[in-house]
Amino acid sequence: MKTRKKPTRKDFNNFLLKLDAEYSTKITDEPKSVLSQLIFSIIARNFTRKGADKAFSVFQNKFVDWNEVRISSVSEIAEVLEQVKSPNVEKKAKNIKKILVDIYSDYHKISLEFVKTFSAEKTKKILQSIRGITPRVMDTVLLYALDYPVVPIVSPFARVIRRLGFVSLTATQKEIKKALDRLIPKTKIENYSRLLIHHGESVCTLQNPNCRKCVLKRFCPYPGLPKSMKTAAFIKNTETLDIDRLKDMAKKRKKQLRLKEKKRREKVSIASIGKTNKSQK
Ligand code: SF4
Repeated sequence: MKTRKKPTRKDFNNFLLKLDAEYSTKITDEPKSVLSQLIFSIIARNFTRKGADKAFSVFQNKFVDWNEVRISSVSEIAEVLEQVKSPNVEKKAKNIKKILVDIYSDYHKISLEFVKTFSAEKTKKILQSIRGITPRVMDTVLLYALDYPVVPIVSPFARVIRRLGFVSLTATQKEIKKALDRLIPKTKIENYSRLLIHHGESVCTLQNPNCRKCVLKRFCPYPGLPKSMKTAAFIKNTETLDIDRLKDMAKKRKKQLRLKEKKRREKVSIASIGKTNKSQK
């Protein structure tokens, strides 16, 4: 089996330069207020940034501020999410409402800007104490609203890192974080994570990544796999997850299919010869 060189930090920077040249004008900024970023991250879960951006502007048009959202019903919040076709509408609407109600009852205001004056540890404790905030949501708030150098491992981001071969296809969040510590300089985390998330949402999608149009296709080991081997279900159910092994398996599978097809054609032609012979008798 041929061995593939693991991409280096230099490769990583080159990939990012290519993504930057491709996407820098297309990426919008994340909300900078702590509470807005928190709600944005909840909306963006299992959704795209573009969808979350749309939901955000609908919220801004429909409600005066987050306090009005707090006193609105779950179904009114759900309406906004339905309008932009967000997944898990009910769950997200309930979560947004609950978070706003809890923040108001704990701090008697609808804002979390006060954490900007706190230490990183204290800020994390406050965010962790708010029910409904997952570690991923917390990391996005820490990075985008508070400029802490943490990498939020959201799905599109993790997918691109895995497919490009920086970690294995089944690497856990912890393993990805560890690899990224080696790859991303702290000052670049914000920009790099935006680029990778955008790439994962717009081109390197979960189902049917658009490898033909990808600016990284020349370097990526993943496009060599046939379509049937790129599905999440296949990857989850396969124990041998090294890309080279998968490619070998793909070759074998192709050969088997070719043989099967050959046998089928032989059968058909034998059957048709038999028929012709019968009719001649
Ligand atoms: S070539 Fe395909 S799999 Fe690889 S990064 Fe690009 S879109 Fe993703």
